[in-house]
Amino acid sequence: MKRMMTSLLAASTLTAAVVAAAPLAAEAAGARPGFKAPFNCGTTWRGSAWTVSDGHTHNPLKSVDWNWGSGEDDNGKPVRASAAGTVEFAGTGGGGYGKMIVIKHGTSGWKTRYAHLKDGSIQVAQGAHVSQGQFIGRVGKTGGQSSSHLHYEQIRDGSVVDAVVQGVTFAPNSVHFIKSTNHC
Ligand SMILES: [Zn+2]
Repeated sequence: MKRMMTSLLAASTLTAAVVAAAPLAAEAAGARPGFKAPFNCGTTWRGSAWTVSDGHTHNPLKSVDWNWGSGEDDNGKPVRASAAGTVEFAGTGGGGYGKMIVIKHGTSGWKTRYAHLKDGSIQVAQGAHVSQGQFIGRVGKTGGQSSSHLHYEQIRDGSVVDAVVQGVTFAPNSVHFIKSTNHC
């Protein structure tokens, strides 16, 4: 009887510890991953969270368009995963996205999207695990774009949010030059 009481006590202590740890784990899971610029290490890119230009509204709002040079300088530049995750979609997207990749970052509710990729450049398949900095495709202008750039989104629980890249927040209409520390 005494032995049984001891083991019951041990079991209830263990249960309490598991319950206490659960809320902390859930909180941590919702944290934004440490997203890095989706480009080669050491290259500097201009990110623009433009909202309205020449009568066009950026769709969706809060997306970031990235350029490295001018004109078609960017065409074919490698695109790298902002953070580790699983490929949720790789192929032709609707709504003017052109060739695109969506990466789901664990079970945290966070995703990233990479659009207007160059035809034939997608390196990953749906369901594949990718590491941070992994080469996933190349910059292009698919989806009816007039010039090459990378359209990039950070998505939380299904909504595009202001991107934070290497600690820099892209508020609406902000422009930031980011030197990639990805895959260094
Ligand atoms: Zn865009």
